[in-house]
Amino acid sequence: MSKADRIRGENQFINREATGEVAEKIASRLKEVISDPRYKAAGKALSLRWAPTTKFDADARIDEEGHHQISISYGAAYETYRDAFVLPQVCQRTLTESFYDPLYDLLSYGNDRHDVLPAGLAPDVARTEGIIMGISWLYCHEQAHLFQAHGDLARLVGAGVLDTSGALAEAESPNLLEGRDAAIRHVFELCADHEATFIGLKELTKAGQPIEQKDLWLFVVTLCCMFQRMGVIERPMPDFAQGSHPHPAFRMRMAVRQIKTYLRDPVTISQMQATLNPVAVELLLDHAVTTAVVYWHMRYRDQDSFPPFIRLVLDDDPVPPSYRDQIFTSWSELEPEMACRYMGWGSRYRIRLTGPQDLS
Ligand SMILES: [Zn+2]
Repeated sequence: MSKADRIRGENQFINREATGEVAEKIASRLKEVISDPRYKAAGKALSLRWAPTTKFDADARIDEEGHHQISISYGAAYETYRDAFVLPQVCQRTLTESFYDPLYDLLSYGNDRHDVLPAGLAPDVARTEGIIMGISWLYCHEQAHLFQAHGDLARLVGAGVLDTSGALAEAESPNLLEGRDAAIRHVFELCADHEATFIGLKELTKAGQPIEQKDLWLFVVTLCCMFQRMGVIERPMPDFAQGSHPHPAFRMRMAVRQIKTYLRDPVTISQMQATLNPVAVELLLDHAVTTAVVYWHMRYRDQDSFPPFIRLVLDDDPVPPSYRDQIFTSWSELEPEMACRYMGWGSRYRIRLTGPQDLS
């Protein structure tokens, strides 16, 4: 049986009605807490739509009347649930086998060898939290496109990055973007990723206590699955922007960089009243990224070769300088316009680049 057939065979175990309801509840709560207060303050309105398709998709749009809408497909809920459910089982049942010892002997962050799923993280909790983290991140990514006025900005600078319905869609468009349009779109995606990841990290930061290892691990694993699902992982890192989204490994790389920066930030340290050891954080992130990539390889890849994705996330220098320069130049041109239109929660939520080296 092929991997695709096996995955199709699992569909009978996903209760679509219940999964859809859980995802709707998660997004509605976020809308109340994150979105509605900002829309009220701005005198604007936001609606949330659930697209009746089994394809993983989401988009954000501002229509001609200025009305904002976030759309998420039920397929995004089902696939997020699938990984939240299966990954903890793979960690416990498969990745603890001796075959994987050579890999995990290199990956300890102070955990025991059998703790591929971190100690203290029960599989059912990982499943529940994983779906909350995944759907929340996706919702906040779409909300960030709107808070940062990417649709308005695309029209202002004449960038052909919206689909025929005027939306910024997460599914790759059949007309592959190139040149300036692709660079602008990649900037929008990186900006939206940053805001969504920031909100996720903030959610993990409880006053007066350090972020727990098991929570950070699950967040990184969830994000890594999300990026692998949302893009084409088998291509090399491009020399110049191409298509609607940055390479999924580059998006994950930027998330890893952001997480390390967040944990070193004096504001975070003062909230946690603790400083996390940077070496321990690095080891934890390596473990989580590797686990998510090995899981993806076993489940979804047809190649026998080692997944290149992992090196593109964790190696020292895989991002072509020409791409870093192109994206930094494009971001520098767009940033003042995004800043003056921003209707979100504050500057800490937004990406800040000091030069192309921040995209390495
Ligand atoms: Zn996006």
